[in-house]
Amino acid sequence: MRIGIIGGGLAGLVAGYALAGNHEVVIFERESDLGGLLSSYRNERYSIERFYHHFFSGDTALMNLLEELDLTNDIIWLSGSTGSFTDGVIHPLTTPMEILRYQYLSFIDKIRLGMFTMQASGLDMTPLDAITAREFIVSRLGERIYHSFFEPLLKSKFGQNADQVSAAWLISRVAIRSNRGVEGERLGYLKGGFSVLIDRLSSAASERGCRINTGTPVTSVTRITSPKGSGWEINGECFDLLIGTVSPRILTDLGISGIPDIPYQGAACMTLALSRDVAQGIYWLNVTDPAPYGAVVSHTNFAPFEWYGEHLVYLASYFTGTPDPALQEKMLSDFCTKFSVDPQEVLWTRIAIDRDAGPLYLTGYKHNLIEPSIPGLYLAGMFSPENYPERSIEGSIKAARRVVEGIQSCEY
Ligand SMILES: Cc1cc2nc3c(=O)[nH]c(=O)nc-3n(C[C@H](O)[C@H](O)[C@H](O)COP(=O)(O)OP(=O)(O)OC[C@H]3O[C@@H](n4cnc5c(N)ncnc54)[C@H](O)[C@@H]3O)c2cc1C
Repeated sequence: MRIGIIGGGLAGLVAGYALAGNHEVVIFERESDLGGLLSSYRNERYSIERFYHHFFSGDTALMNLLEELDLTNDIIWLSGSTGSFTDGVIHPLTTPMEILRYQYLSFIDKIRLGMFTMQASGLDMTPLDAITAREFIVSRLGERIYHSFFEPLLKSKFGQNADQVSAAWLISRVAIRSNRGVEGERLGYLKGGFSVLIDRLSSAASERGCRINTGTPVTSVTRITSPKGSGWEINGECFDLLIGTVSPRILTDLGISGIPDIPYQGAACMTLALSRDVAQGIYWLNVTDPAPYGAVVSHTNFAPFEWYGEHLVYLASYFTGTPDPALQEKMLSDFCTKFSVDPQEVLWTRIAIDRDAGPLYLTGYKHNLIEPSIPGLYLAGMFSPENYPERSIEGSIKAARRVVEGIQSCEY
């Protein structure tokens, strides 16, 4: 079989790697680099993800892939400390003592929040898809807990759409993230960063004969039907099967019909290198004060500083439509003011913007999880059921593996 894959992100690479050898596979990637949202900036000393990334101890599909690629020894488990930037002050929120000291929630609020978090994994998610996280939390825990605790999290992940996000998304996320020790959550990372995985995966796929075309956006897709059978023409090249890993918007724009209309949001992530740490050793700071970013993610308060020799910080924000053209300047100037950073202390900055950074998990989202049944078309991406209610590295690997199994079980 000739199989064409649109997208050389993680899902496309996993599918290409697993199918090559048994099939003739071609991956089409728009950008000059592979990895999609998991791609990295590289310099002479190190590589760093364009968008901050870590993984969780329950990510078994990722662990299996790392084992298959002989990368298990590169896994490192690190403490993911958290805090909030509220009223111009950093409030550490990692240890139980720090949480007890947090002045924006009463003692009773904290007990209720703790109990709620412990119960989260036992809740039935089906009815929670129909109501907003806001409605659900306010009815269960009241306005104060919502505003002080949940709203900043929702705003940092969904920007102006925070109020419409489903309770199913929020509760599932709380359940995943409630696996915390007293020193904070243990999060996985790779020595050398995720570029190690993307490089090893793409080399392994190429060694099996997969052709990977970078810098090659798919601009035309045509369905071919003839008495001899059906297939696809991708950028003028003929294939028996097509695997789409890009957003539903891109698939629809390419002329593929029957794709569910799943709303997506964009992400803008600015990376700054600094001469000192400004986050008091905290990895993840939710910024609750008004700012053009929702979180300050200090990568070098997570991965060892010695790997990089400079302090690396991400400023993250999500948007719908198109981002503010002056976003980079606004982010930098706001950050320097809030964290008392002299512009001289900023060694370099870069911004990564992706319009299709993930689905918006609004109420009713689960109705979108119906796969179109178009012969010869397979879909694996952030909109796949494996990525509900949270898109992730794990979800895209699982979605790609499912598609591969589907193709192999058809004995083409
Ligand atoms: C800010 C941010 C932080 C994240 N942090 C984490 C985290 O900590 N842990 C975690 O598990 N997950 C995280 N994720 C999610 C994770 O990055 C994604 O779920 C995963 O990388 C998606 O892989 P994918 O292959 O499905 O999609 P993508 O990475 O989007 O791949 C799609 C590919 O298709 C290409 N493409 C688009 N259009 C075309 C075209 N016309 N022709 C050819 N190619 C095209 C794109 O360039 C891209 O390479 C994060 C995401 C973001 C945005």
